Amino acid sequence: MFNVQKIRNDFPILSREVNNKPLVYFDNAATSQTPIQVINCIVDYYSNYNANIHRGVHSLSQEATDKYEQARQKIQKHFNAAHAHEIIFTSGTTDAINLVANGFASLLKKGDEIIVSAMEHHSNIVPWQMIAEKTGAILKVIPMNQEGELLMNVYQELLSEKTKVVFCNHVSNALGTINPIQEIIDMAHKVGAAVLVDGAQAAPHLVADVQALNVDFYTVSAHKICGPTGVGILYGKEDWLKKLPPYQGGGEMIAEVTFEKTTYADLPHKFEAGTPNICGGIAFGAALDYMNAIGFDAIATYENELLQYATEKLLEIEGLKIYGTAKNKTGVISFNIDGLHPYDIGSILDKLGIAVRTGHHCAQPIMDFYKIPGTVRASFSFYNTKEEIDVLVEGVQRAKNMLQ
Ligand SMILES: *Cc1c(COP(=O)(O)O)cnc(C)c1O
Repeated sequence: MFNVQKIRNDFPILSREVNNKPLVYFDNAATSQTPIQVINCIVDYYSNYNANIHRGVHSLSQEATDKYEQARQKIQKHFNAAHAHEIIFTSGTTDAINLVANGFASLLKKGDEIIVSAMEHHSNIVPWQMIAEKTGAILKVIPMNQEGELLMNVYQELLSEKTKVVFCNHVSNALGTINPIQEIIDMAHKVGAAVLVDGAQAAPHLVADVQALNVDFYTVSAHKICGPTGVGILYGKEDWLKKLPPYQGGGEMIAEVTFEKTTYADLPHKFEAGTPNICGGIAFGAALDYMNAIGFDAIATYENELLQYATEKLLEIEGLKIYGTAKNKTGVISFNIDGLHPYDIGSILDKLGIAVRTGHHCAQPIMDFYKIPGTVRASFSFYNTKEEIDVLVEGVQRAKNMLQ
């Protein structure tokens, strides 16, 4: 059974105070908190088997290598990739997207088209803009409606044999919309385009099966899924990863080096130049173990209850408007109150110990679409409670009274 109090005991940070008030942490879409099981894994690594991997004959190095490769296999299993070498460790989603975008730089030519959704995180827009500029490829955008849902009929019209790559987030970090990625992938494949799905915001709430989706690339950041910062993965289909050139040169990624010519290592090492975040990768595996022990079905059901409850309660506040009302969404509520600046609301909430995010959430085109400077965003995790939502609603009401 899902027992939120028991779960909360796993997170030391949740019992601290902020500004003399119990912490209410609703900034989960920016980064999640870390359970003691993952913290212990990190302590264990540095206390007992810290060593560089893959090239050592000594036992510590062997132990660290085994644990790191076991983590890769855990991640492979979790996302149902066909091979462990299709999981490339990166420093996060941003790094993973840059790896793919840079690889495509050598495959795209002038007049080719790249399609991106209107609700992308900046990390999924800027690298492609840079590549478009470099290659002469053209960037096209799938628009969205007022609810924050993509216009699939327009997407259909944008697709043609000129389309080479499509990228879209699985879940929008600013609105919470769960995008119909199966359809997006299938439609792109019909014209022979590759698809990169940014799973950074989906991974904490649902499990993507990369083989069932038949997706070409999928990206995840560990820090949004109860793991540490500075580590994530790129899933890539073997054929694509073989086709793309390496992203960075250095140690680990080579087979043979002479001054005349270097041959590259096999997958996944071809894309893993230099010493990786060894401890981070192992802790990423521990984070998946932790969340799978709770169960993603239980997590989704519970978070949906929180979302429904919070939506209802917040809408009782006069003048409050929620941005992103897609039917299919995760526990993210982006809102504004008539005449008030999101930053002012966020600052008052902070005084009350409530952590929310204010601003454009790295998705400025969405804010331009709604013609607003930004929103207040409360994003929920499975360790949050209805009592905390009551504290938020009371806080927002108080902020409104103070500011109006
Ligand atoms: C957080 C996030 C990113 C960026 O992830 P990093 O860990 O900062 O690299 C990209 N896309 C979405 C949808 C996100 O939520």
